[in-house]
Parts: sequence; C-alpha cells; structure tokens
Amino acid sequence: MASGTVIVGASLAGIRTAQDLRREGYDGPITLVGEEPERPYDRPPLSKGFLSGAVAPQELSLCSDDEIGSAAVELVLGARAVGVDVDRRIVGLADGETIGYDNLVIATGAACIRPPWYREIAGVHELRTLADARALRSTLTAVNSLVVVGGGFVGTEVAATARSMGIDVTMVLREAAPLAPALGDAVAQAVSDLHRGRGVAVHHSSDVAALLGDQAVEGVRLADGTVVAAEAVLVAVGVRPSVQWLAGTPFYDPRGVGVTGSGRAGERVWAAGDVVRSSKGHWAAAIADAKSVAADIAGRSGRSPSIEMPDYFWSDQYSHKVQVLGRVGENATLTPIVGSLESMSFVGVYGTDSAITGALLIDQPRHLGRMRQLVSVGASVATCRAKVA
Ligand SMILES: Cc1cc2nc3c(=O)[nH]c(=O)nc-3n(C[C@H](O)[C@H](O)[C@H](O)COP(=O)(O)OP(=O)(O)OC[C@H]3O[C@@H](n4cnc5c(N)ncnc54)[C@H](O)[C@@H]3O)c2cc1C
Repeated sequence: MASGTVIVGASLAGIRTAQDLRREGYDGPITLVGEEPERPYDRPPLSKGFLSGAVAPQELSLCSDDEIGSAAVELVLGARAVGVDVDRRIVGLADGETIGYDNLVIATGAACIRPPWYREIAGVHELRTLADARALRSTLTAVNSLVVVGGGFVGTEVAATARSMGIDVTMVLREAAPLAPALGDAVAQAVSDLHRGRGVAVHHSSDVAALLGDQAVEGVRLADGTVVAAEAVLVAVGVRPSVQWLAGTPFYDPRGVGVTGSGRAGERVWAAGDVVRSSKGHWAAAIADAKSVAADIAGRSGRSPSIEMPDYFWSDQYSHKVQVLGRVGENATLTPIVGSLESMSFVGVYGTDSAITGALLIDQPRHLGRMRQLVSVGASVATCRAKVA
C-alpha cells in the first residue's frame, strides 16, 4: 500500500504535477495512476500532425524513461480509479487493488460528451485519446467523405486535417460560425471563410437529429430533415470532466472539481487540469495548475502562476496558427492592431480602448511575448499600437 502523493490521471496535468513536485524539493513517494495503457502523451497533435501522419507516436511522449526514473515516479498504467475513501485515505482501483495516500491529486481530465443520437457503429468517431486518434486516422485513410459534428477547436482542426488529406468534409454546427463562442463573431466568420475556401461545406445553425446507417454509418440527418451522406462521422460536441470515480466524496460535482487558487479541493486533496470546474480546457492552463498544486503540496502556497500570467491557448487551422491570450469571448469587441482577419495575418485585442483583456494573433508568433506582457498589465489600445504595430 503506497503512501506519499498519489496522482490519479497520467496525462499532462498529472505528469507535470509529479515533475514540479520534484523541482519543488518534495522527496516523498510519488505514484501516478492512469487508466490508459500508454505512458503520458500530448493530446494537441492528435487532431493535427498525428492525424495527418506527419507526427509519429513516439513524438507525442511527455516524458522519457530517464525522466521518470530520475524523478522516482511510480507509474501504474492501465489502472482505472473507481473510488476514494476519504477517511482512510485510500484510492480504489477497478481490479480491486487499493493505494493509500498522504496527498491525493485529482488529474483525470475530461471525456467526450456523447449526445443522445450517438451510436457505436463503424465509422462513428470521437477524439480524446491516442486510441481514438489511431482509430480515426485508420478510417480517414480509407474513406472519401467525413461529417464533423461540432464547430469547436477539435472539430475545426480535424476538418482542416481531413480536408488537407483530400477528404470531402462537411461541418455541422449549432452556432452561426465555427469557434464563435470562444473567439467572437468576427474571428468565427474568418474561420468559416477559411474552411469554405478550402472546400469544406459548412451547415451552421444546425443540429443533428440522427446518425444514419445500419452496421456502418452512412451519414447524418439534420433537425431540418436535410440528409448529409458520409462514410465517416466525427462527433466533437464538447467534453465533460471525468469525475464519476469521485461519486460519494465531497469532491464530486458533474461540472468539475471545485478548487481554491492554489488547486486545493479539500484536506490533503488537490485537483489540476481539465477536471477542475473553472478550467477552460487548455494545455497551458493544465501546466499552470500543476505548478500551483505542486508548490502548495511542497508547502510554498500563495503562488498562482495562472493568475499572474494571462491564459494562453492555440489552435492550428490548415497552415495557420491561431494564438489567444487572456480573456476573450463571444461578446468581446475585437480591435485590429496589425494586419487583417481576411488575410489571416493579424494581431487584435479584446477589451476597451483604455484596458485590453485579451489578444488574438494569427500567424504572428513573433508578437506573442510582447502581447502577453501587454495583456497582463491591461494596457491601452494606443499602447498596443505603439509597441506592436
Ligand atoms: C484532440 C485534442 C486537441 C487539442 N488541441 C489543443 C490545442 O491545440 N491547444 C490547447 O491549448 N489545448 C488543446 N487540447 C487540450 C489539452 O490537450 C488538454 O487541455 C490537456 O490534455 C488537459 O490535460 P489533463 O491532464 O488535465 O487531462 P487529460 O489530458 O484529459 O488527461 C486525463 C487522464 O486521466 C485519465 N483518467 C480519467 N479517468 C481516470 C480514472 N478514473 N482513473 C485513472 N485515470 C483516469 C485519462 O485516461 C487521461 O489519460 C487538445 C485536446 C484534444 C483532445
């Protein structure tokens, strides 16, 4: 029965917490428990380079054998946590084994939402894990047509990758344009134009009523009765935090685990990454959470890098890199600083003339560092123009 720190969820937030604990000087045992059989790997390439074949599986690794060895982390893989006894400080695994802990870190991330019409038939895919990506890649190499349901980051990235592989792609989304809730209408329109320009058919303001086909999918029927034929369908309508295993504990909440600024969920229990209720589901946020949690466990609370530094995420759409800093959103006003959205070469800021809250860069990575500083101090639009244009 192990004790020390037990981290459940062996992905980005989990492995980073383990590594940061050692950096903080924590010298107790660390056990990293993960449901998937693979060692920790990076998910962003799953909808991009890995799917197209440009990135090999070994390039996804988040840690080498040497790093695991030198950090003295015990990896328990292929092991699903099914419960926690908070009083006895024990995590229960699906195979009946138990692991005791002094400190517990919840890092179980999120899983794809399956709408009521979802069916497990050939050609229907979701994308969260390496196994999902392998299955989707295998399908994409064999079909000529794909429907992507969902106009979020994963949906648009897979649409771009599949289109680049020569596949006929139709996107079906509830919103008026892809990425609208995340980036606002103007950017969403530019993204929509980009996809249409590359030959993607976009059914916006639409919902799916049913997946068609018997043994294998043959297309989708939309709520207005339109039928879109396709040999494959990706369902990418969002994620939900993986918290079922916490049922019956004070940490269970279907919206995600509630934490303080330093990642504390309760006595001797912390949470990091996409499983956290306030998480926006981005790579950089999971890393910032892991840092805060490790510092708090090691007794250096009060630091919260995610508060000091603006939130950051990126998305690749065809050859374009979209980078987003700080607070943005559907109703935020976007003011251009450099270039234009139409040319897909752009720096713009969200917020008011006197204080920006966020920034969006398209194919302008050289301005990222400067924009990060300007967003973190809430600079004025005039200052941004003077320093960046
Ligand atoms: C296809 C794809 C593309 C992405 N692209 C981008 C991008 O371009 N930019 C960006 O900023 N972000 C991107 N992200 C988001 C980013 O990958 C996530 O924010 C990040 O993976 C979160 O890490 P996490 O460790 O919190 O959760 P996860 O990566 O979800 O890992 C959680 C781990 O916990 C395991 N687990 C779950 N339940 C249990 C249990 N009961 N017992 C044991 N183990 C369990 C899971 O199997 C999983 O391995 C992308 C995500 C996906 C899926």
